[in-house]
Amino acid sequence: MLVSRLDYLKNRKEREERRAEQGERSNVRFMTLGDGGEAIVRLAPLDDDEIIYFHTETDDWKSRKIACLREDFRDPIDNCPFCAAKMPLKSRYYVKLIHYERDDEGNVVATPKVWDAPARYVSVLTDREEEYGPVQDMIYKMKRTGNGQTTTYDFLPMMSKVYNDEVYKKDFSGLENYKALGTVIKELSADEMKNILAGEVIAAAEEEVHQSAPRRVTY
Ligand SMILES: [Zn+2]
Repeated sequence: MLVSRLDYLKNRKEREERRAEQGERSNVRFMTLGDGGEAIVRLAPLDDDEIIYFHTETDDWKSRKIACLREDFRDPIDNCPFCAAKMPLKSRYYVKLIHYERDDEGNVVATPKVWDAPARYVSVLTDREEEYGPVQDMIYKMKRTGNGQTTTYDFLPMMSKVYNDEVYKKDFSGLENYKALGTVIKELSADEMKNILAGEVIAAAEEEVHQSAPRRVTY
């Protein structure tokens, strides 16, 4: 009992260290807005954004996003053991942007951030670009409406006279090294995926044995 408790604490410590390490590598903050929330933003060039396909793997109470190993849908399903095991494939769009806010003295402060968005916003932002030109040359008001499944985000173009480049600086240097792949979306090899799948099979089998084992009372 004591041993397993120590093991548990040790594993937890290792997991926390791993998480801290991963956090350090991705010290860019995420863009969050509440229902009805608004923010003044400048989107980074759309080519810098990442669309990532992944599987969700659950490991004691914690779920991780693991990058799919297939390059695209024409790739054979066996290239990714999680696809081959019919684990659902999901996608997210990681949008780099600068969030402008005013400090107590009224100065505009620019904070590099990443918006973790549903994949459908690829076409929303591409449409914006077609209509108003390169997104990085524009200032948008990002507005959130709704909650949960009904949440939508709108991007309203702002007047460049008011939101000029001198105050709302076009500086994406804080986002240069950010990669969602390898930080928020973990990368595993095919062998590591197979090990996880094998582990789940063993756990499921043990569970079954446990449930079907008759309860014996011995004196
Ligand atoms: Zn896959």
